[in-house]
Amino acid sequence: MSVIIFIDQTEGHIKKASFEAMSYGAAIAKQINVPAYGVLLGNVNDDIAALGKYGVSKIYHVTDEVYNHFDAQVYTKAIAEIATEAGATVVVCSHNQSGKAVAPRVSVKLKAGVVTGAISLPDTSNGFVVKKNVFSGKAFAFVSIDTAVKVISLIQNSYGVNTVEASAEVITKSVAATAKIKVTAVNKVSGEVPLTEADIVVSGGRGMKGGEHWGILEDLAKTLHAATACSRPVADSDWRPHHEHVGQTGIQVSPNLYIAIGISGAIQHLAGVNRSKTIVVINKDAEAPFFKVADYGIVGDAFEVVPKLTEAIKGLKA
Ligand SMILES: Cc1cc2nc3c(=O)[nH]c(=O)nc-3n(C[C@H](O)[C@H](O)[C@H](O)COP(=O)(O)OP(=O)(O)OC[C@H]3O[C@@H](n4cnc5c(N)ncnc54)[C@H](O)[C@@H]3O)c2cc1C
Repeated sequence: MSVIIFIDQTEGHIKKASFEAMSYGAAIAKQINVPAYGVLLGNVNDDIAALGKYGVSKIYHVTDEVYNHFDAQVYTKAIAEIATEAGATVVVCSHNQSGKAVAPRVSVKLKAGVVTGAISLPDTSNGFVVKKNVFSGKAFAFVSIDTAVKVISLIQNSYGVNTVEASAEVITKSVAATAKIKVTAVNKVSGEVPLTEADIVVSGGRGMKGGEHWGILEDLAKTLHAATACSRPVADSDWRPHHEHVGQTGIQVSPNLYIAIGISGAIQHLAGVNRSKTIVVINKDAEAPFFKVADYGIVGDAFEVVPKLTEAIKGLKA
């Protein structure tokens, strides 16, 4: 028996979210007294054995070329096969784009119960009960999984990263699969921190009054090495690209720091950001709903506050 954790990579680098997934999976393994193993698909430039510090004692590394780019179907096949081989009773992945795609598929293949979007360790004192957010983070659900194998996807930043002094045994494997999708080129948005991987997000709303004013947000983001994001009306008005739109109908982020500038804090926006560790709100209206969920707030005009904030941070860094 074991806990298997899907280690996600993109373009040869292991995604940060996987460090947390491994720590979480290792903690479950400890809880149920079984070892924790990782599954890494595709070739990476990172030191694989070093991932043992996140609590996995063994890593199955599948090196066939077909796994170098994410493909939900072939990834599912490999994860399910390795999980079966390793006698996994729990399969863990991050609740990111890849994890969301593979968790339900793996659960079907393994005839396993699945909880997507878990936010804490399962309660194994009487069964296997997993806590997750529901209703856009307005409530919790406690879901009992009764199947022999369980699949869980973990919301980023909800558990944390734990390290130990250890390295993992790496087992190189081949799992035959044929991709139905052929990736011929990868075009990345250049010069930016990817939004879903960002530690800090600087986000602007309609209070910025137009795309031409985004320079002050970009300066702040650059100073903080942050990603930029926006509210939906901003993307709808073409002030910013659609891939920056966060919220219920956009990207859901959970950075360590989310700075909301000129955003009112509508429920649909909050649904995409309320898992951020610390929220800072800058808004000229003291009654803006966003202040209710803010850890820190500045009531003021963004066009005055943001440049001063950027200068102050630059000063601190210097
Ligand atoms: C089905 C549905 C799905 C939706 N999905 C999403 C979603 O995914 N994401 C999303 O963001 N929205 C979504 N919306 C829209 C959402 O309801 C809000 O309309 C939207 O979030 C408001 O965007 P905003 O805060 O940028 O603009 P506004 O509500 O217009 O707020 C602008 C804010 O800027 C402040 N402000 C103005 N000038 C300044 C200044 N100079 N300095 C500082 N502050 C200033 C104002 O006080 C105000 O609080 C959805 C709506 C529906 C119906």
